[in-house]
Amino acid sequence: MPTVYNWQIGREMEYPYAENRPDRQWGAVFDLNKCIACQTCTLSCKTTWTHGEGQEHMFWNNVESKPYGAHPLGWDQEILDRLGVQEWGSDGVYDGDTIWEANDVDWEETSPTEEHVANEGHVASYMPDDADWAHPNLGEDEPAGEAFAGDTHIEGEEHPMWFFYLPRVCNHCTYAGCAGSCPVQAIYKRQEDGIVLIDEESCQAQLQCVQACPYKKSVFNQAKGNSQKCVGCYPKVEQGLVPQCFENCLGKIRQHGWVNPPEEADPTNPIDYLVHEAEVALPLYPQLGLEPNVYYIPPINVPDDYLFQMFGPGVEEAKETYRRARDGRADQRKLRGLLHLMGSTEWRIEEFEVTEDQAIGYDADGRTVAKVPMEEPRAERPKFEQGVDAYRLDVT
Ligand code: SF4
Ligand code: SF4
Ligand code: SF4
Repeated sequence: MPTVYNWQIGREMEYPYAENRPDRQWGAVFDLNKCIACQTCTLSCKTTWTHGEGQEHMFWNNVESKPYGAHPLGWDQEILDRLGVQEWGSDGVYDGDTIWEANDVDWEETSPTEEHVANEGHVASYMPDDADWAHPNLGEDEPAGEAFAGDTHIEGEEHPMWFFYLPRVCNHCTYAGCAGSCPVQAIYKRQEDGIVLIDEESCQAQLQCVQACPYKKSVFNQAKGNSQKCVGCYPKVEQGLVPQCFENCLGKIRQHGWVNPPEEADPTNPIDYLVHEAEVALPLYPQLGLEPNVYYIPPINVPDDYLFQMFGPGVEEAKETYRRARDGRADQRKLRGLLHLMGSTEWRIEEFEVTEDQAIGYDADGRTVAKVPMEEPRAERPKFEQGVDAYRLDVT
């Protein structure tokens, strides 16, 4: 069984197929400091892709409150429990097992074409019960941490009581669990954009993808008799547009684009800048070993230890960098401009620049598709206006 290089865990690992990176990789960055759990993204996907028979329980895009929310129920606790001890070395190399390594399978002797690879315990995985899919919003807004007096001013950046919203779509993983476990090779990764798709004609309802995807983003359709998953909105992506759940995001927390491996990072590409240059956006549970391609800017008010388990090394630095951009520090001016650009256009921004007073986004042809001011125009009026002899309550 081939050995592949996973840059997110800083080492080689085992995977059922040889390394074959696509020409370009569909990628995304979500800023968790801005999500308000309005679920507009969830509904925009639902009304576009999953409103048919047999899809009632499907939320290809979902938003769950952390730490207590999860859809399906308890998905991340279930998979982390099966992974064993998850330690990272001080050099940023992951020393624990990935889902491919946790069960000590001799992959030389095993092929994904054998039936029931996942069920036989080759991949660290589990199958959610029907009831686990039934409560997509369980745990919403439930906080963790220490209670404090209602009128207490919260000092410091981390809050004693906290929760945050985690929006999730398929990660269109580089080493996809769904594709790596399908016994009939019905799941494939497109060479042109890295989007992972299920060929519904070839799917033979083995459900290994539902079991093996640790993020639980492949879901079985009982009515059609095959598995289905987020398609990355490929018809829009092919036209240079952003996916439906990105375009409709009310909080403007989402940026779609191409993500390169670190050695090929292009600092003018917004996703590469956030992931590789500023290192402010981190992958979700990189220790699972899938090289997921949705990255998250961690919420700055949440304790580091929880975020470290979820996003791996680099959490503290990412939070500090984000704070500096928020505070308008000169060294993070470019990042601040890019954060302003997020969610500002339905077109995919492939290149960006920050000038003295604007952040500008360009499409693949160099056409300007977004332009936002570095500072919002602001007018301040006097509290007492002599001309009309009146006080104002609202002075901005
Ligand atoms: S998130 Fe799951 S369904 Fe999506 S590509 Fe990765 S393993 Fe497959
Ligand atoms: S990218 Fe498209 S298919 Fe995937 S969750 Fe978003 S709207 Fe749904
Ligand atoms: S639309 Fe945006 S802000 Fe609203 S829940 Fe979805 S990701 Fe969060």
